[in-house]
Amino acid sequence: MTQTGFTPDLDLDGLSPDEAFAILGNEIRLEIIRVLWREDAAHEYDDGSDTAETMSYSELQQEVDIDDNGKFNYHLSQLAPHFIRRTDNGYRLSGAGKQIARTVIAVSGTDYLDFSTELEQNCPLCGAHVEATYEDQWLRIRCTECDGVFGDQAPTGTLFLTTYPAAGLASRDPEQALAAGLYRCALDITYLMYGICRECAGHISSSVTVCDAHENRGGQPCAACGTPFQVWADMRCDTCRFAKRLPVEIFTTGLIMATGLIDNREMDIHSPSFDEAIDLLQNRVETTVSKDPLRVLITIEDETASFTVTLDDDMNVISFDRSSQTDVVTS
Ligand SMILES: [Zn+2]
Ligand SMILES: [Zn+2]
Ligand SMILES: [Zn+2]
Repeated sequence: MTQTGFTPDLDLDGLSPDEAFAILGNEIRLEIIRVLWREDAAHEYDDGSDTAETMSYSELQQEVDIDDNGKFNYHLSQLAPHFIRRTDNGYRLSGAGKQIARTVIAVSGTDYLDFSTELEQNCPLCGAHVEATYEDQWLRIRCTECDGVFGDQAPTGTLFLTTYPAAGLASRDPEQALAAGLYRCALDITYLMYGICRECAGHISSSVTVCDAHENRGGQPCAACGTPFQVWADMRCDTCRFAKRLPVEIFTTGLIMATGLIDNREMDIHSPSFDEAIDLLQNRVETTVSKDPLRVLITIEDETASFTVTLDDDMNVISFDRSSQTDVVTS
């Protein structure tokens, strides 16, 4: 088995991403994965160990409903060993096979999902009504009156925007989905800031863009760059291209929200609230940029603590200080 560099030459179990796409682009093979996943779904220890529920050859063939032995054998052999494994007890999904099944589950269900609705809370910026919309796996919270937070970098009125699997909406109302979306977003950002891809565990490459002629107009978009934020960062996975482009303040507040939650003994998934997150971003963050070398210094203050994060042009955290508001603040 060779494990060479990253895409496009990624080669695990001798299977390149192109070969994996080719293998999975077949109805019968996907049906085999679906049947084995369904069999395994009832398995008590699902992902707790390498064990998985197995099916005998004949059971599997019957469930997949292919009478032609040669044909069935061919498709089975295409999936093994990367997506399915043959054991003494029969066939089961491999770790990669389970992940394919979970991905299909996460992305299914958008056709019947009507999620656009007005929320009970008001816009933290202007007090107008706020609505949630869901399209193409994106959950968006938008103000019905004002321009929102992101200037021309997001659709007008956007207050919050995140990718969100449809399967996770089925059992949540919009308020709960927003709280869960905020929490997921903070955790995504934490992964990125630690240089790890949440989707594939690959390495993250980052770059920052600074508006040199930036005008701070109290939350209004700057004439030069079209957004209220002077520094934006791109963080992208080298392997699977999972990416986020956001103001550095959001990367930093996301990191602090998530790590702050970890510190909190009374951890609550619904905390901080959407209003608190927007308040943090709009009113409690100060950003200073210095050049040669580029340093972005972000100070965030809430009621109990003050955080100072210094970033370089690759989004590395050069320093991270936390002091409680009663301490003498040094930086
Ligand atoms: Zn508004
Ligand atoms: Zn600007
Ligand atoms: Zn990745």
